[in-house]
Amino acid sequence: MFKILQKTVSTGIVTVNYPGEPAKISERFRGRPSFDFDKWKDARAAAEVCPTGAISLRDKGHSRSVTVDYGLCVFCGLCAETSSDQAVRITQEFELATSDRRNLVLTAEYALNADGTHRVLRKVNRRSLDTQTDEDIGKKMRDAIHKVLRRSLAIREVDAGSCNGCELEIVALNNPIFDLERFGIQFVASPRHADMLLVTGPVTRNMELALLKTYRAMAEPKVVVAVGACGISGGIFGENYASLGGVNKVLPVDVYIPGCPPRPQALLHGILLAVGRLAERLP
Ligand code: SF4
Repeated sequence: MFKILQKTVSTGIVTVNYPGEPAKISERFRGRPSFDFDKWKDARAAAEVCPTGAISLRDKGHSRSVTVDYGLCVFCGLCAETSSDQAVRITQEFELATSDRRNLVLTAEYALNADGTHRVLRKVNRRSLDTQTDEDIGKKMRDAIHKVLRRSLAIREVDAGSCNGCELEIVALNNPIFDLERFGIQFVASPRHADMLLVTGPVTRNMELALLKTYRAMAEPKVVVAVGACGISGGIFGENYASLGGVNKVLPVDVYIPGCPPRPQALLHGILLAVGRLAERLP
């Protein structure tokens, strides 16, 4: 017993102060790829190597339309490796959660040279991600949870067919380092006690009914959060005989959290964003 106390005192506080302070992340962490559309000379190589089709091209005559969908992106970095002009690079940005799926899609239109390279950028559409990186977001949300619910926020998690990568990060949210309970947020076993449904994985046909039943068992007001590329779009699995694709194929989704898997701070950022949506639902 004495040894346990001694160890506890010598270890000190390990809990990180995110979002009160910026997240300390490893140099090797891969966040979203960023695209410098002005500089990009040829999108074909990146589209070819992209494993999920997050970069797609449509050529018509001498023009090309390029679409980048962060809801499909698994942050593998292959597009940056093929970008000899350095127009695509991997960043460490992870606070990408948004309530509008369209915010995750960028489009650009180019006029082409005869060899298929980009001659001139005609149009670009970058919808802004409604990221809240306010340093006080944690305190504000803790206050909002208390004001809205007069108690803790309860989350029910459903794995609709994931590889368990997202689950590992969700479990990490509950460890002493990320300590989700400091915001008054806890995971519950029953959907009847839950305010938020956190869904991982593409929705497999085997899990469709279970997911629907879980959603219907939750009392109003409730919010649905789709986690990771699979939860948003089906990710690497897409739509096939066993998978229906993203969660929005089955349920109305309030917040999308990109990543493969999203790191714990990215999950926290998305969950806190979803609390705002819950507040809007109250009478
Ligand atoms: S980082 Fe994203 S966009 Fe780039 S190749 Fe990988 S999945 Fe495709």
